[in-house]
Amino acid sequence: MAIKIKQLTHIYNEGTPFEKVALHDVNLHIKDGSFLGIIGHTGSGKSTLIQMFNGLLKPTRGEVYVKGINIHEDGVDKKHIRQSVGLVFQYPEYQLFEMTVYDDVAYGPKNLGLEGDALKERIESSLKAVGLDEEFWQKSPFELSGGQKRRVAIAGVLAMNPDILILDEPTAGLDPKGREELFSQLKEMHETRHLTIVLISHSMEDVARYVEELIVLYRGEIAFKGDTREVFKHRERLEEIGLGVPQIRHIMDALKEKGMLVDTDVLTVEEA
Ligand code: ADP
Repeated sequence: MAIKIKQLTHIYNEGTPFEKVALHDVNLHIKDGSFLGIIGHTGSGKSTLIQMFNGLLKPTRGEVYVKGINIHEDGVDKKHIRQSVGLVFQYPEYQLFEMTVYDDVAYGPKNLGLEGDALKERIESSLKAVGLDEEFWQKSPFELSGGQKRRVAIAGVLAMNPDILILDEPTAGLDPKGREELFSQLKEMHETRHLTIVLISHSMEDVARYVEELIVLYRGEIAFKGDTREVFKHRERLEEIGLGVPQIRHIMDALKEKGMLVDTDVLTVEEA
């Protein structure tokens, strides 16, 4: 089991007039090797949830296990947990700062104490995994396109050799081509490196196309979880919780293209 969340409730500013329950009694198992998407309306608790996965936030109540370890128990090495669960924030390219792409990706593994050939191998394989070959390595990150910068930032997290990669809106602001490239690379990493990948996305189309399992959050609770195709069958309920018809129609089309819809599902598309 990659991640297990048990009866987790998170309340911001508890006991003040600004109290806000962001997550309520969430139970979740993420298996090793999953490719999981998290969707939900703004404010549904997505960002709060992913910050629980690597211990960046401590829940008000409940437990978080990473690879079987209860991460908030005394004596647990938080640094190790953060290395094992790599978190890519929204617009991670804003955090690039080194003179070259290569040095930027080197920063994390160097801090872990890696050196020599092991360091070189780690940097180069991470850059290759995001589709940046040698011609980019000595460039300044600031010379690159938006999509390329983002890939440098993701390579920086991959270079820490995480078991689990969590991404908050990895394709936000990218054009359709950039989105497709990034998703295909994530899919390839998932398949070749057996990385467990969890991502938040607003693009239901991307989610339907690439992600194997889905969680739908609604007001801090899990409204649905399961196989992507199964979740999207619940069209009416998805609409009720603020996920609109046009988007769902897109998803249905994407699923149809992939040959993932059976006849009864197609009827649902017509109804929409
Ligand atoms: P999402 O990522 O789905 O938009 P969030 O996890 O950011 O949702 O937020 C869930 C709820 O918690 C929202 O009502 C939000 O306003 C509130 N919230 C998030 N972060 C904070 C914070 N630092 N302080 C107070 N309330 C917060």
